[in-house]
Amino acid sequence: MGERGRIRIVDRGSQILDQATEYNRKTAIKALEERQIWLDIETETTEVTSDTISLSYKGQIDTIPVDLVVWTVGNKVSPLTENLNLAKNAQGLLKIQPTLQVLDRNDIYALGDLAECLDELGNLLPATAQVAFQQSDYCAWNIWADANQKPLLPFRYQALGEIMALGKDSAVLNGLGLKLEGSTAYIARRLIYLYRLPTLKHQLTVGLNWLTQPIVELLSS
Ligand SMILES: Cc1cc2nc3c(=O)[nH]c(=O)nc-3n(C[C@H](O)[C@H](O)[C@H](O)COP(=O)(O)OP(=O)(O)OC[C@H]3O[C@@H](n4cnc5c(N)ncnc54)[C@H](O)[C@@H]3O)c2cc1C
Repeated sequence: MGERGRIRIVDRGSQILDQATEYNRKTAIKALEERQIWLDIETETTEVTSDTISLSYKGQIDTIPVDLVVWTVGNKVSPLTENLNLAKNAQGLLKIQPTLQVLDRNDIYALGDLAECLDELGNLLPATAQVAFQQSDYCAWNIWADANQKPLLPFRYQALGEIMALGKDSAVLNGLGLKLEGSTAYIARRLIYLYRLPTLKHQLTVGLNWLTQPIVELLSS
């Protein structure tokens, strides 16, 4: 974006990939630098027109020509959640107790992307499948425990690691005591994703697609 042919990443935060591990963030920044992609941090987008973008940095607004803007500024809360008369944070996510019961409503449970998910120390957790998946076990247990007058369990998050794709043939992996980057991480990422898919049908469909995709691309070019 910006000066013709130049790609910029704009973020109003003080760093990109704020919730990623330091190793993954640094590797991703290195990969962007290698591709000569500019990082405009502490910069806010104030306006986008058909051929310009206005960026505010330290109170000064610059309007520059642009060919393409890809807007990836997070998810919006669904109207259904928005209209629920339940406790929410500033982003509109449901506030929950460690037991995953909604704040002040012990009869309602909330988990995953629509809730403000915290670890046992009260740190905000990222909106990932890993978090939602682990919460689902606790949620099921707590519903059963509540119905059977047993003590409810507070959610405990176990970070299994983080993998990030870095382009078409590279990735970075940090987890289970491993730190990998480049094509090894890319292959490991694919194998781990395949392993984590829920059914054999999913695994076959995705695995077959990955195998045939390069052949299809080769033939169509
Ligand atoms: C492009 C992309 C890549 C991602 N990659 C990763 C990754 O690599 N690793 C990772 O851990 N996480 C990843 N995530 C995040 C992960 O997908 C989410 O955190 C996870 O799916 C959250 O689960 P959930 O059950 O809370 O919500 P969802 O998976 O969004 O499920 C909510 C479901 O509710 C349904 N629904 C919505 N409204 C209604 C309604 N009114 N009535 C009935 N049903 C309704 C929706 O159709 C949907 O099926 C990625 C997300 C995106 C968008």
